[in-house]
Amino acid sequence: MTATSEGPRIGFVSLGCPKALVDSEQILTQLRAEGYATAHDYAGADLVIVNTCGFIDAAVTESLDAIGEALAENGRVIVTGCLGARSDATGTNLVAATHPRVLAVTGPHAVGEVMDAVHAHLPRPHDPFTDLVPPQGVKLTPTHYAYLKIAEGCNHRCSFCIIPAMRGDLVSRPIGEVMREAETLVKAGVAELLVVSQDTSAYGVDLKYRTDFVAGRPVRTRMTELVKELAGLGVWVRLHYVYPYPHVDEILPLMAEGRVLPYLDVPFQHAHPDVLRRMKRPASGEKNLDRIRAWRAVCPELTIRSTFIAGFPGETEAEFEYLLEFLREAELDRVGCFAYSPVDGASANDLPGALPEALREERRGRFMAVQEPIGARRMRRHVGSIQPVIVDAVNADGAIARSRADAPEIDGNVFIAPPSSISQRNRWRDGVRVGAIVKVRISGADGHDLWGELA
Ligand code: SF4
Repeated sequence: MTATSEGPRIGFVSLGCPKALVDSEQILTQLRAEGYATAHDYAGADLVIVNTCGFIDAAVTESLDAIGEALAENGRVIVTGCLGARSDATGTNLVAATHPRVLAVTGPHAVGEVMDAVHAHLPRPHDPFTDLVPPQGVKLTPTHYAYLKIAEGCNHRCSFCIIPAMRGDLVSRPIGEVMREAETLVKAGVAELLVVSQDTSAYGVDLKYRTDFVAGRPVRTRMTELVKELAGLGVWVRLHYVYPYPHVDEILPLMAEGRVLPYLDVPFQHAHPDVLRRMKRPASGEKNLDRIRAWRAVCPELTIRSTFIAGFPGETEAEFEYLLEFLREAELDRVGCFAYSPVDGASANDLPGALPEALREERRGRFMAVQEPIGARRMRRHVGSIQPVIVDAVNADGAIARSRADAPEIDGNVFIAPPSSISQRNRWRDGVRVGAIVKVRISGADGHDLWGELA
């Protein structure tokens, strides 16, 4: 094929069976639709895609040779197809092990992943006159923070939840794809990334923690590795929906070093082991109090947010008291509590011992009465300290910001008083704008919000 436009040019080598040929056609169609041109030789290509076959030994050899030739002749190579899904005896991706210089490797039938790799390594320049969307896509969040969805669906079957029935089992996005989106967001001005999924700790389980490529480096699709990569982007990174599995301990040192926000959103839902078993909760066998103590020993600044359900079917007074005792011991920072309410289709509806609504509400009220002074005490510990905050809005009364302990929409705010001195006024003019991270001396707190002035 000959070069057809001014856009970046891609060489394409298509090997294998008719199914692979169809994959090649789909990739070429997408490339053309996005304005990429095709090159007829290696020298005229800005990048080469090799679609491989991995069926029999001869096909493997032919594919590996083709990749070697493309690397020698051009140097910038993306590999896709059946061989891309094969591992060697050590479990390492065969293509990556044989040709470590390839930019990215995907398995077969992976048009989206191939296009992500092309976007990462040969982005088509954004043309504001012809492109209908900005590079980071259309976002509903303000420009300075964004949600980063790393997976869809869930492998658990919590008895009060119907999300797996609606969204299916866990499907993790390969780490290379997630990191490319994160980098695009940061380039577009995002200063805070909020990592979300149904079960962030389980990230990559469905892919067997498969190795993918981040900027040409092989990296496993796994929570710890993802958090380490995100920590290198130089923006705030906040983790939501983290279940307390042992490997969560691996990210606490990153929080202690200030590379990731010292914030964990851990939906405990209950504390009593029997209730957790009836709820069929993930990590229900973990010793959560011990884990919280260990986390705080590593990272004393850690903020823990959680949600709980009061009045779950069959919850005895003793089990509820156990939950209250857990609250007193755990001293969580931010806590929400819902009175249990049946969801159509949830298996918990069939459990014996449903509690009357009035009792469920009464327990929710008792729960909050225990937690409120704890939360207020945790907030007061910030008074007198200097905290970095991210500015969400600037107005005549000063600025509204959030500390590292505050996720947008669900936690509190830090209200910054307008400048009161000439030096403060200068610093305010130079630094206080939406999305900026500034230092604030905290002077007041209630159970939800903080007040302070520019430090
Ligand atoms: S509540 Fe349980 S089943 Fe529902 S999404 Fe969360 S972990 Fe999955």
